[in-house]
Amino acid sequence: MRPETRTVHVPHVPVEGSRPIAVPIYQTSGFVFDDPALMAESMGRPDKSFFYGRYSNPTVRSLEEAVSGLEGGAGAIATGSGMGAINTVLLGLLKPGDHMVAQNSLYGGTAAMLNELVARFGMEVSYVPENDPAALRAAVRPQTKLLYMETISNPMTLVADLPAMCATARELGILSVVDNTFASPLLCRPIEHGADIVVHSSTKYLSGHTDVVGGIAVFADEELYQRVWRFNIELGASPDPFAAWLTLRGMQTLALRMERHCANARILATRLEEHPAVAAVHWPGLASHPSYELAGKLLSGCGGVFSFDLTGGREAGERFMSSVRLALLAPSLGGVETLVLHPATTSHRSLNAEELRRSGIGEGTVRIAVGIEHPEDLWADLQRALA
Ligand SMILES: *Cc1c(COP(=O)(O)O)cnc(C)c1O
Repeated sequence: MRPETRTVHVPHVPVEGSRPIAVPIYQTSGFVFDDPALMAESMGRPDKSFFYGRYSNPTVRSLEEAVSGLEGGAGAIATGSGMGAINTVLLGLLKPGDHMVAQNSLYGGTAAMLNELVARFGMEVSYVPENDPAALRAAVRPQTKLLYMETISNPMTLVADLPAMCATARELGILSVVDNTFASPLLCRPIEHGADIVVHSSTKYLSGHTDVVGGIAVFADEELYQRVWRFNIELGASPDPFAAWLTLRGMQTLALRMERHCANARILATRLEEHPAVAAVHWPGLASHPSYELAGKLLSGCGGVFSFDLTGGREAGERFMSSVRLALLAPSLGGVETLVLHPATTSHRSLNAEELRRSGIGEGTVRIAVGIEHPEDLWADLQRALA
C-alpha cells in the first residue's frame, strides 16, 4: 500500500487476554461487516450487530443497559437530551387524534411540547392532579393512549402517587410514562410501581457533573422498546458516544452522590424552615409538605431539589439571587455544585400571576438544587444571603 492509503486505513489493535476496566469510547459513526447478510439484518434489529451511530453504538449501549438494569426495564434508548427522550416516546407512540392525560405541574420543556402537540399535531391533552386516580378515570376517553407523570415535580416537589395512578392506567388500558429525573433510580424505580416507560434527563443526577446534556427512555416491555427503537432511528435523537461515556462515568458514583444530596437537603430544608426570612419550605422530607407521607412510602430519600418562599416576595427573591456566593445562580440541577434560581423571573417567567399561583410558585419562591459540598459551608452562604 502507498502512504496515501496507509494513512487512511489505520490498524485496529485486537484486545485479547485482557480487557479495559473502563468502558471504551467507540468514537465511530459506523461499523464494518464481514457478512453482507448480517449487515442487512442489523439495520432493523437493536439486538443484532452494531450498524450505524444513529442506530446504536457499544458505548451508548453500555449506558442503555446500565440504566435499564437500574430501573428494572427490558431495554432502553439513550438520546441526546432529556427532551429527546420525552419526544422519542411521545412521538413514537402517539398519532393525530390521540388523547393523553398529564399531571398538572410539569417540567417547563415538557409542558411547552404538549402545547405544540395540541396546536400543530392534532393531539389532545387533559390535566389531572398527580395523586388523583378518580380524576384520571374521569379524564380518560376512547382515544386516550397514555398517562404522563413526574415522580417528583419541579419546583414544588409534589410526589406522584405512582402505585395508584399506574394501576388505574393499566386497568383503563393506557400506558403510563414517568419522568424520574428528580428521583433517579436510586430513590425510586417507577417500573416497580407499575409504570410502562421511564424517562430521564441524564443531564441531571445520572451524569451528575454538569458537563453533559443527555436523556434516556427505559421500557418495561421488550416489544414496546423495539417499536420505539425503530422509530427513534429515523427521529435521530441519538447521543454522541462521548456524551454517553461521560454519563456512564458519572453514574458510577450515583449512589454516593444521592446520599449526600439528600442529607444536605435535609439539613438546609430543616434550618430554612426555622428562619424568620422564610415563609415556607417545600421539600417532601418535611412533615409540613403535602407529599410527606407518600414520599415516606415511595422514595428511599427525598431528593436534593426543593424550593422555599421568602417573606419579602419578589424583591427579596431577586436580592437573594444576587447575594449568594457559594451557591451558583444557574439553570439545571443534579450536579455536584449547589445551584439556585428564582422561578418567577427565570424558568417560569412565561406564566402570568394566576398561572404562577396555580402551580404554587410565589413571587418570592427560590429553587435550590443542593450539591454535595459540606453542608455548613452551604448553610453559611444561605444565611448570609438571607441576612
Ligand atoms: C431537565 C429536565 C428535562 C429536560 O431534559 P434536558 O436534558 O434538558 O433536555 C425533563 N424533565 C425534567 C424533570 C428535567 O429536570
